[in-house]
Amino acid sequence: MKNKRVYFAVAAAVVLVPHALFLHTFSASPLPKPDPYIGPIPSATPPKELAVFAVVAGVNHRVTAEGYRGGSFFDHRDFSMAGALVKHPQGNLLIDTGFGRNIDEQFRTLPWTIRAITKYSLWQPAVDQLQAAGKPLRAILLTHSHWDHVSGLPDFPGVPVWVTTQEHEFIRTGGKGQFGKPFTGIRYEEYGFEGGLYLGFPASHDVYGDGSIVVVPAPGHTPGSVVVFVTLANGTRYPFVGDIVWQLEGISEREERPWIIRQGADSDAEGNRENMLRIIALKERLPELIIVPAHDIRAFAEMPKLAQASSGTTSH
Ligand SMILES: [Zn+2]
Ligand SMILES: [Zn+2]
Repeated sequence: MKNKRVYFAVAAAVVLVPHALFLHTFSASPLPKPDPYIGPIPSATPPKELAVFAVVAGVNHRVTAEGYRGGSFFDHRDFSMAGALVKHPQGNLLIDTGFGRNIDEQFRTLPWTIRAITKYSLWQPAVDQLQAAGKPLRAILLTHSHWDHVSGLPDFPGVPVWVTTQEHEFIRTGGKGQFGKPFTGIRYEEYGFEGGLYLGFPASHDVYGDGSIVVVPAPGHTPGSVVVFVTLANGTRYPFVGDIVWQLEGISEREERPWIIRQGADSDAEGNRENMLRIIALKERLPELIIVPAHDIRAFAEMPKLAQASSGTTSH
């Protein structure tokens, strides 16, 4: 009798503990609220022609539970696979590419762990949107080199791809989250952070020297991840935060990705959290910031579109 009781207790524990852990991983658990950023607000003299455009190339069909702690398994949401065009008189930049023309073929080279949880639709690759709009590129500036941000690189032969030294190394060594078959013939160009503190980040790189496009180091999600701040002539400021958070709730509700997902997605989850808190502190100080996580389609809806994306072109 006693043995039977022990058996049931053990059996219950074996079933219930993983369930409890699983649910805990996905339950809401906001990070402590940081103090608002109190440092200086850097000045910028952007040209009046400076503009940003959403270049949404497709979507991943997900549920919000995958995006942030406290999300639901029943709340379906399409995550943007996108870039943004920054139109500047000294040269247009594309921040990330989102899906490219060859995504179907590239997708097959990903580890099964990614393929098993990914269902996507390609709308229109960035290269086709840019060609249709007649927008040549000076360079592509990557927030980081994960597959869903670089898929379109081979569509732009000869266009320099700007990366940090750390991210270039991550690419060279085939770090996790990249396609199984490395691209050939991409013209990577490394840049450094010659500038000082910028909005709570320890260093900066002012691309055209006018304060309109400023890149800051934000390692964690990948070793060489960055945030790109674009400041328009009217003062509108967009931090393109890459994958520091996947959805805006990461900032508004201070919710990280669920633990189990951080293990797969982030190179250094602690480092990523630090940068997430920097962005949250900045938003506390500057509520008007338009934060653009690469996968939050609502953020791209805040800017003009380069092309009218048509849904349902091809689905997988
Ligand atoms: Zn990523
Ligand atoms: Zn991503």
